[in-house]
Amino acid sequence: MSSIQILAAPRPISFDSEVVSCSPNASTTLSISFNNKTTNSLVDRILSSQNAPSIQDTASIPDARDGFTGVPGLPPLHHGHPDTHLRNGVMKAAELAADGEADAEKAFFVADLSYVYHQHLRWKRMLPEIEPFYAVKCNPDPYVLRLLAALGTGFDCASNGEIAQVLSLGVAPSRVIFANPCKATSFVRQSAKAGVDLMTFDNTDELYKIARVHPHAKLVVRILTDDSKSLCRLGLKYGAPLVTVPALLAKARELRLDVVGVSFHVGSGCYDTGAYTDAVARARAAFDMGAAAGFAFTLLDVGGGFEDATFERAAETLRTALDVHFPARENLRIIAEPGRYYVAKAFSIAVNVIARRAPPAVEGAEAEEADPEQPSVMYYINDGVYGAFNCIMFDHQTPQPYVLCLNGSFHVPSSVSMCASSVWGPTCDSIDVVCPVTQLPGTLAVGDWLAFAEMGAYTRCAASQFNGFEVSNVVYTSGTGLAGAEVRALLRGRPA
Ligand SMILES: *Cc1c(COP(=O)(O)O)cnc(C)c1O
Repeated sequence: MSSIQILAAPRPISFDSEVVSCSPNASTTLSISFNNKTTNSLVDRILSSQNAPSIQDTASIPDARDGFTGVPGLPPLHHGHPDTHLRNGVMKAAELAADGEADAEKAFFVADLSYVYHQHLRWKRMLPEIEPFYAVKCNPDPYVLRLLAALGTGFDCASNGEIAQVLSLGVAPSRVIFANPCKATSFVRQSAKAGVDLMTFDNTDELYKIARVHPHAKLVVRILTDDSKSLCRLGLKYGAPLVTVPALLAKARELRLDVVGVSFHVGSGCYDTGAYTDAVARARAAFDMGAAAGFAFTLLDVGGGFEDATFERAAETLRTALDVHFPARENLRIIAEPGRYYVAKAFSIAVNVIARRAPPAVEGAEAEEADPEQPSVMYYINDGVYGAFNCIMFDHQTPQPYVLCLNGSFHVPSSVSMCASSVWGPTCDSIDVVCPVTQLPGTLAVGDWLAFAEMGAYTRCAASQFNGFEVSNVVYTSGTGLAGAEVRALLRGRPA
């Protein structure tokens, strides 16, 4: 924040911008399937026209090729590439705006469920012996949960609400781990009623609590590992240091509780996969402490923190560490709690430029020497850190925008000159900054659209409605090709 220069509005800002015409054949690269026809310049026509023609709203008419229009009670499920739906959403907004609809230009997510499906296949390929228990808190989207339930994953829940949501999908309670080491007594009691037995702990008080209201629970001791290479250092809050584990296990025995294994979490946003090596070694030590205390542990939970970009490396590290520390593991069940890995790239968000403030130099008044590194133009978009972009505050993410629609066209000419700009959310709080500095076309104007990719993890689920701004909706697509068909079959509840 300190590097941001707050620009005073030197004079009433005119939101009229000059129109830069894009080359007429530019949009051929972005031909869009529309009304069953492929059109090239339709988008430009619609968006540049004050009286938008009545267009069929393809974004709200799911493709009926297989007759499946989505899960009853949930938003419609579409076919096709997510980029198509980003553009459809923009065109729909143009139509709504032409009709004078309130909130016509509302920001929206596009979720590509085939991405979640691909990630699952990738997991199965790289870590076939580790059962994923999806960390629900990351994105409890109803379609995502249904798809994962159909794919047969387990679920890591941290609250009554998450457990209820997962069980309502017909998931067996044995497929849930209550992976919050510090639970309210009423939550433990409720999980006993629901038949959720597997749960973590890292302190003595938790053991007393569980002994009282869920004496038949299957307990997993969450150990502290080295999380110094992670952006979100969960060890600050959870995890029993190894030196305390023997006493914890002795207490569990005294209370006649059943401890079945060990869990850890290397921390979210783990950028050094070596963290898994350290963690598995510590888990091995905890297993030996279990044996010394008279328990026969059968479960190892390697937690979350898996990143899309480094997944193969993390998997390789993990497999090697398991071979070293758990060479004979016929009787060992290994589970994990991946969250962001499954969903980060599955969701994009499209946001509308609702306002712009530029200093006189940019507006064409007396020319000043502008520092090309310092943002000169401020753009205001209709979702921010109190909404989907809370991931900036809570999850250390640094989302970067790209131009989705410029001057009524989905084509950004390569000749367009870029300007150091800042991007701000819609609330009246100055903390609501989405990008302190980013390069955006100098011609970007009010009414244009930006998009942010990789907005699926720790975004919408933690969004507030501060200042009266609604949480952005989601447009769902099953994706393209075979994966799309598989996703639809899984969600329909029939084999593909
Ligand atoms: C948040 C959390 C996860 C998921 O973390 P990711 O970084 O999203 O993979 C898994 N397990 C526990 C206990 C968590 O708190």
